[in-house]
Amino acid sequence: MSHSLITMSYIVATILFIFSLSGLSNQESARKGNYYGMLGMAIAIVVTALSPAVSSYPILIVALLIGGTIGAFAASKVEMTQMPELVAIMHSLVGMAAVLVGYANFMDTSSTLTGVEKTIHEIEIYVGILIGAVTFSGSVIAFGKLSERISGKPMLLPARHWLNLGLLIAAIVLGWMFLQETETGGGSLPLWIMTAIALLFGIHMVMAIGGADMPVVVSMLNSYSGWAAAATGFMLSNDLLIVTGALVGSSGAILSYIMCRAMNRHFLSVIAGGFGTSGGSSAVVEGEVTPVNAEETAQLLLDAKNIMIIPGYGMAVAQAQHTVNEITKLLRDKGKKVGFGIHPVAGRMPGHMNVLLAEAKVPYDIVYEMDEINEDWDDVDVSIVIGANDIVNPSALDDPNSPIAGMPVLECWKGDTTIVLKRSMASGYAGVGNPLFVLENTRMLFGDANATMQAVLKALKG
Ligand code: NDP
Repeated sequence: MSHSLITMSYIVATILFIFSLSGLSNQESARKGNYYGMLGMAIAIVVTALSPAVSSYPILIVALLIGGTIGAFAASKVEMTQMPELVAIMHSLVGMAAVLVGYANFMDTSSTLTGVEKTIHEIEIYVGILIGAVTFSGSVIAFGKLSERISGKPMLLPARHWLNLGLLIAAIVLGWMFLQETETGGGSLPLWIMTAIALLFGIHMVMAIGGADMPVVVSMLNSYSGWAAAATGFMLSNDLLIVTGALVGSSGAILSYIMCRAMNRHFLSVIAGGFGTSGGSSAVVEGEVTPVNAEETAQLLLDAKNIMIIPGYGMAVAQAQHTVNEITKLLRDKGKKVGFGIHPVAGRMPGHMNVLLAEAKVPYDIVYEMDEINEDWDDVDVSIVIGANDIVNPSALDDPNSPIAGMPVLECWKGDTTIVLKRSMASGYAGVGNPLFVLENTRMLFGDANATMQAVLKALKG
């Protein structure tokens, strides 16, 4: 394939990726956004495979088959609740690819670059491996935390900030040594040591981040995976990979910023680790809970005019979204005003609840963001909290010692009655007790959210 045709195809793919990102920013256009992304990626793969950069088709075909089969199998088998873990482990693969490409480039003796160009190429290799290794080990730990194979509690080593600073200085010094040694054909020792340091840094950085701060890590690793891909693009002199990596890197950075704002955290404090988690008390909950059954819940809903539904991680676990949609339809047919209040960090990945509600075909125009409804709770007669906990915890606002202090939450307790659906009195992801459960106007409907919602639906139908 000619060079100009490759360049043109890459430009088309880039435009499709930009359309894809713009489509994904809105629920109505998200499906179209995905199609643009798929088409862009298909063009990118086919054109790269046909480019002169490929010298051995058997190896490429075998690699494509193995990678494609694993990807298709993982995507078709994954449960909705395991989606965040899948995303995390995919990020780790991007990091690993950057490390492997970096080492392959380093060992490649056929390069004819000299002078400044050679130095720039070596910096690309060094930085690519550095970002790739941090992304790889950080994502593996994030995968462990999200899948609860590793405790969500922050691991706070003594003098951890000094340790991070020491690792950063060591990486810079080793970079300088690497550039010096490559002049004489060496450089492998500083490169190996830096890789080990970067892997340790990735582990330490994510291990130190606990509980409610994890959404920032998820979006931050998304961003890092983009920069790792861009670094790989530089090493391979592939313009499309550079642009695509930069798109992912910058959109991930914007998402991290949005997540930080949603949680009232400073980005650097979260990255430094353990912010708001050391020394905080876990909001001991004292008081009587008032349980209700499905029939009483149905009656409360029938008596209400304005109903707000707050979904959380438990709705994903119970896969209750379809039953919730049926209840919504029934209540709206009875003339009730029903809305959904979505907290930006509800669930285990950005946009988790929106995906579930879209899957159940809940109309988009009754799904509200936290900022749109947090002023209006006085008008709400009944709010139903479905498997949510941290995002409706009043201690975030009232208790300065709470590990989630300062995080804006959905202030449902300001409405007339709150019904909380969950299986027990267990705490949520941040491990913090929730005083909402013992408030006078709160009713607890215990059980699996799908089973209880089905019982409520039956009671509503009479
Ligand atoms: P939480 O994790 O705070 O609470 C979920 C609740 O669901 C639990 O209290 C649990 O209680 C209940 N639950 C679990 N399974 C069921 C079930 N089958 N039926 C009924 N209830 C169930 O979820 P939230 O959505 O409120 O908050 C999200 C948390 O996750 C935040 O702390 C956020 O920071 C964090 N996080 C978010 C990420 C993101 O990107 N959105 C990424 C990583 C972490 P019980 O066991 O008693 O049933």
